[in-house]
Amino acid sequence: HLRAEIIAVGTELLLGQILNTNARWISRKLADLGIDVYYHHTVGDNLKRLKHVMNLAKERSNLIVVTGGLGPTDDDLTKEAASAVIPSELYEHEPSLRHIRDFFKNNHIPMTENNRKQALVFKDAVVFPNQEGMAPGMFVESEQAAWIFLPGVPGEMKHLMTDHVIPFLQKHYHVKDYIVSRILRFIGIGEATLENELTDLIKNQTNPTIAPLANEGEVTLRLTAKAHSKKECDTLISRVEKKVMERVGAYLYGTDDDTIEETVFQLLKSQGLTIASAESLTGGRFIESLVSLPGASSVVAGSVVSYGTEIKKEVLLVSDKIIDEFGTVSAECAGEMAKQIQQIMKTDIGISFTGNAGPNPSEGKPVGTVFIGIKIGDQPVQVKELHLFGSRSQIRARTVKKGYEMLFK
Ligand code: ATP
Ligand code: MG
Repeated sequence: HLRAEIIAVGTELLLGQILNTNARWISRKLADLGIDVYYHHTVGDNLKRLKHVMNLAKERSNLIVVTGGLGPTDDDLTKEAASAVIPSELYEHEPSLRHIRDFFKNNHIPMTENNRKQALVFKDAVVFPNQEGMAPGMFVESEQAAWIFLPGVPGEMKHLMTDHVIPFLQKHYHVKDYIVSRILRFIGIGEATLENELTDLIKNQTNPTIAPLANEGEVTLRLTAKAHSKKECDTLISRVEKKVMERVGAYLYGTDDDTIEETVFQLLKSQGLTIASAESLTGGRFIESLVSLPGASSVVAGSVVSYGTEIKKEVLLVSDKIIDEFGTVSAECAGEMAKQIQQIMKTDIGISFTGNAGPNPSEGKPVGTVFIGIKIGDQPVQVKELHLFGSRSQIRARTVKKGYEMLFK
């Protein structure tokens, strides 16, 4: 049974200058292989402490993945430390040295002597060539544990894992199981409600497992199946997906990498509908998210960022009466903004956002009070009142999400 551990090397990780995204990424990949990861360790570029951590690791784990510190400089000490701990001798690996020489030649940079260090590999190691950089990855087995060494640069680490290490581990440890995940994406339903609807499934289902996750106004379900073939996994997932859809299918907007922005955009496009926005607290964020999708011009007419009250009055023609009587953070103002932008831009849909994103209350309305107006064709305008939580930027982001949620319905 494999007990894996990840050691991330780099003082900048300890200083908080960069986030240890490598550990997370590697952990997920190992989990996908069905390998249990029991420890994450982070250590600086210090020989003594590196050896200490590596010694600890080999006492309690039998698969140790080390990332970082494979570079050419004096503070890259991973191999030196590991050489003492595994223990194993290093030698200069001819193909890796050639690759490093070519790398410098192709980039027209003179190669310095210290770069040879990157071609050092352990005796009897399986060497994984690095197409994205210089230092190769490796796998070494000793009596107590198997060791994997990977560069710290995330792009290089991912390339080596995906193209070499994972297929190697599958073979070496006879990992036969296939693991397939499918993500179902919902909007307009809370995490608690969704879980309630599916309690029995979530509790009793083991293959696939069902894992709910809430994230920025959306809820996702990850269905993960294990089987001896990809096809078997797909069949298992489809069977459960069907049951899920019978109960909460109305809130499903997409799967896997789909986004609500893209889904709504495709909906508008397929119906030949155009849209314009009047944005106060969102400051154009809604329209920006639509325009960033390729082909937006067939759907998007334009937007008015009417942040100031005067602009709401003069450009969007919201009447003094509405502003004086109800204020700018009001259902009346949102409704009027949506109607006016639809007229001004001559679109099928006008959508408006007004509210208070904080940090201070305004017009006596608490932070997080938001109104979204939607006017479609000659139907009466609909306005939704929201009370959102979070920082200013979270409130603004959630407002935009809510706008999409309303359009999706
Ligand atoms: P190099 O040849 O570039 O020196 P290396 O294998 O020695 O590679 P490091 O020097 O430890 O790797 O890291 C190089 C860069 O990769 C770091 O500056 C950092 O930006 C990134 N990096 C290193 N470790 C991690 C990690 N655990 N998570 C995310 N990024 C990392
Ligand atoms: Mg380095």
